[in-house]
Amino acid sequence: MAQGTGIICSEVNGRGAAAYEEEPQRRRVAIVGPGSTTRDALPLIGEEQLIKDFFKTRPQHLVSIKCKPYHYADKALILGDAAHAMVPYYGQGMNAGMEDVTLLTSILGQPLPLDEALAQFTEDRWKDAFAICDLAMYNYVEMRDLTKRWSFRCRKWLDTLLFRLFPGWIPLYNSVSFSSMPYSECIANRKWQDGLLKRIFGGSLLAVVLAGSACLVQRFLSPWTVMQSN
Ligand SMILES: Cc1cc2nc3c(=O)[nH]c(=O)nc-3n(C[C@H](O)[C@H](O)[C@H](O)COP(=O)(O)OP(=O)(O)OC[C@H]3O[C@@H](n4cnc5c(N)ncnc54)[C@H](O)[C@@H]3O)c2cc1C
Repeated sequence: MAQGTGIICSEVNGRGAAAYEEEPQRRRVAIVGPGSTTRDALPLIGEEQLIKDFFKTRPQHLVSIKCKPYHYADKALILGDAAHAMVPYYGQGMNAGMEDVTLLTSILGQPLPLDEALAQFTEDRWKDAFAICDLAMYNYVEMRDLTKRWSFRCRKWLDTLLFRLFPGWIPLYNSVSFSSMPYSECIANRKWQDGLLKRIFGGSLLAVVLAGSACLVQRFLSPWTVMQSN
């Protein structure tokens, strides 16, 4: 654990992290007990070492950084977390850093002066870097409480169904985690899907209301129509 990072979201008797400090047995169970997610690492690290390392470091604040530009003339360039640290809820921080390197390598492969190449990097990267910071924050909200809402679960179910029926329909999570779609396009794709579903459901609702109204009109106007014809 010396160089590792980890996140534990838990509540003990409603007192959060304080309970771990006060109740050594509880913290032992949480970290190395049967339900622990670190069990596969235990033989490698050792129980005592893991508990010791875990409590040696104080919890740190999570940060989210959006900045621009990433370069200074032809002198300096920041990549990875230095350029776009984000909250860890999408598990994309390292991937975003790797994407930086891929992009930079491809730009440096072009016959450009270095200052222009670095400026090009900033220009090509900032939208996606900002987007993944937003997505990571959004995923925190999703994990925090959206998953409990029926509307969220319905949407998830619908997304999965549409994905199976039409592989071109890529749900947001899949597009971010399992595709090479740029992060800003993942957001745009999701907005497009939201808009389409709204139009479909809005149209269906309107059709039902119109059909219902037509039935009612038919029903109430019928006697009058019959009287007129008589
Ligand atoms: C809890 C948590 C969970 C995460 N989970 C995931 C995940 O599941 N998937 C994923 O892709 N990403 C995840 N990340 C993000 C990922 O760890 C980071 O995005 C990634 O490590 C960033 O790499 P980096 O090289 O840009 O920065 P860092 O890994 O921070 O490297 C910067 C290095 O610079 C050194 N340094 C700092 N200042 C100086 C200085 N003045 N002089 C010399 N050296 C210096 C530091 O010691 C460090 O070694 C997670 C992050 C956290 C906090």
